[in-house]
Amino acid sequence: MLRISSLVVLFLGLPVAAAWHQHDGEAMGTRIHIELWHEQPEVAQAGIAAVMAEMTRTDQQMSPWIASSELARINSDASNGWLPISAEMSKLLARSLEFSRLSDGAFDITFASAGFLYDYRAGQHPDRQQLRQATSRIDWHQVELDEQGSRLRFGKPGVVIDLGGIAKGHAVDNAIARLKALGIAHALVTAGGDTRLIGDRRGRPWLVAIKDPRAADKEAVVLPLADVAVSTSGDYERYFVAEDGSRYHHILNPKTGDSARLVQSVTIVGPDATTTDGYSTTVFVLGVERGLALIDQHPEVEALIIDANHKLHLSRGLTP
Ligand code: ADP
Ligand code: MG
Repeated sequence: MLRISSLVVLFLGLPVAAAWHQHDGEAMGTRIHIELWHEQPEVAQAGIAAVMAEMTRTDQQMSPWIASSELARINSDASNGWLPISAEMSKLLARSLEFSRLSDGAFDITFASAGFLYDYRAGQHPDRQQLRQATSRIDWHQVELDEQGSRLRFGKPGVVIDLGGIAKGHAVDNAIARLKALGIAHALVTAGGDTRLIGDRRGRPWLVAIKDPRAADKEAVVLPLADVAVSTSGDYERYFVAEDGSRYHHILNPKTGDSARLVQSVTIVGPDATTTDGYSTTVFVLGVERGLALIDQHPEVEALIIDANHKLHLSRGLTP
């Protein structure tokens, strides 16, 4: 009797099994999904609040649509001469320029000159004349960054930038750092197509699904993963089909200002979400051959590409 009751006391003293916590929210114009495990509900809730705060902070800093954002200030002032910027912005711009260098300009934050001419919700795209004008202002070499000195200037008037191809990954990485600082050892944070994982699902891998780009409710691949980041860029998230049947979507070829049409989706697995986000947009523009050639030169990342004919291609490290 005594033994049994002491066992009960011992059991009641243990943490409750329901230590998984979930949250769905919206920030940066996209869906945020959080799953995490912590024995103490207060810590779990603090983690969720920290992730959402990080997403909002990044939006306030990096959205081109928020007039008071650092990015908006860069777009309005950096053509007038050296402009002081935050260390965080400086570092992310350096990463962006590195992707431009690696890809010979397939990734280019100055794509925005053309990007701002599209309205995917309204189904509007620029005509040839407008695109010709816009592409004359697309050139990442015009972004002169003094990374150490945290300052920036544009080489000529009319240049504008947009960090949509990398900022969500950056926000996810900052969110993950906040969770780690709270001692959280099992978590998933997703912002749109960018996900990063801390640990596993307590003894099991996380299952990250890649959507079928041509069947909204179908999954094309499910990846069992732990402790990595994974990003998917697709032509099915923000798009419209014009009267002539062409599909217009939000990833642009900087050389033409037109939507990149070599593939339907690119998924990158790698060490952190800034890296996987940057590569997913980059490889989307490069297409299967050039994209896989780039990924195979960088052992820290792997790629799954669904081409324009809906066929799957894998980087060398994933090839059975
Ligand atoms: P998502 O935003 O759906 O997660 P991506 O990470 O691929 O997908 O980012 C797409 C965004 O990247 C676009 O909405 C746009 O802001 C930006 N972008 C589009 N084309 C380019 C490009 N060639 N280089 C850099 N950024 C781009
Ligand atoms: Mg990206």
